[in-house]
Amino acid sequence: MKGAVVYKPLGKENLKFEDVNVPEPGKGEIRVGFERAGMNPIDYNVVAGKVVYSLAPFPHIPGSEVMGVAKSDGKRIRKGDKVIIYPRIFCGNCDMCLTSREYMCTNGGLWGVVSNGGYAEEFNINEDNLFKMPQGMDPDVAVSLPIGGLTAYHALIRAGASHEKRILIYGASGNTGIFATQLASHFGMEVHAVSRKEWVKDYGASEVYDPDSVPENLKVDIVMNSLGQKFWKDSLSHLSAGGSLVTFGVLTGKEAEVDIAALYTAERTIIGSTGGSRKELLDLADITARKGLKVRVAKRFKLADIKEALDYFPKVKDGRLILEA
Ligand SMILES: [Zn+2]
Repeated sequence: MKGAVVYKPLGKENLKFEDVNVPEPGKGEIRVGFERAGMNPIDYNVVAGKVVYSLAPFPHIPGSEVMGVAKSDGKRIRKGDKVIIYPRIFCGNCDMCLTSREYMCTNGGLWGVVSNGGYAEEFNINEDNLFKMPQGMDPDVAVSLPIGGLTAYHALIRAGASHEKRILIYGASGNTGIFATQLASHFGMEVHAVSRKEWVKDYGASEVYDPDSVPENLKVDIVMNSLGQKFWKDSLSHLSAGGSLVTFGVLTGKEAEVDIAALYTAERTIIGSTGGSRKELLDLADITARKGLKVRVAKRFKLADIKEALDYFPKVKDGRLILEA
């Protein structure tokens, strides 16, 4: 059995695709055979040593957005089932877990960061993290739901997305934006997307604007800003009275100013959002299968060629980088 293992000091020069020892699955665990993965900034940064969380264990197997096939039997999951992986380690007993917010478990963290992840030919994972992949789902889509898709879905719910509301989505062609755009459209919302890519229209946006050309007088019920500082002021300026700004990323910086008077006199709301629950992942998988949500693929690599994939990752401009068995 081989896997991608990174040693200290972190950096892709210290990543090896080598033999790994996978023990028999423990109590409550299932053995999974790797089939496909999407590479995220988090995976890239884990290898590069650029995450704020401390990695465990060492040496470390990264990989947080993976699908595969069950190689052992559990209570719900049977050998041979194709599985989607909920990428959070959680205890089930803390205040967050007890209120169905296992993505904020005080004793947990992201799978592949606080634990070994899925960049290995086979690995063990708790059955509570596994869901059957809906029949006929494109595996490229299945490996885009646990982080990109779920983050977007959860943020829409937090912001009160519903039929006939208007939404403005910054970063609409990114990993989360592409799902936010499709989901908002399927919810029956009027979707205004901010992106330089014209193809965003094919994903259900009614209007696509360049970042510099969003009409000044555009007012919406919900603004989704996953990019942070650079678009913060603009984000707030497009909020109608009673509207909500939802945020979950700081790619362009994390410092921002707020006009407090403009906030309270029009009862606007700023909402932080992160991850999503297992129930939401299950619901999202169902919506995705029924509505045929899709993703764009930039390039494919074999898992064994992960070093080449890591070299290519910073050059990705359009779509996802996929790893295959
Ligand atoms: Zn917990």
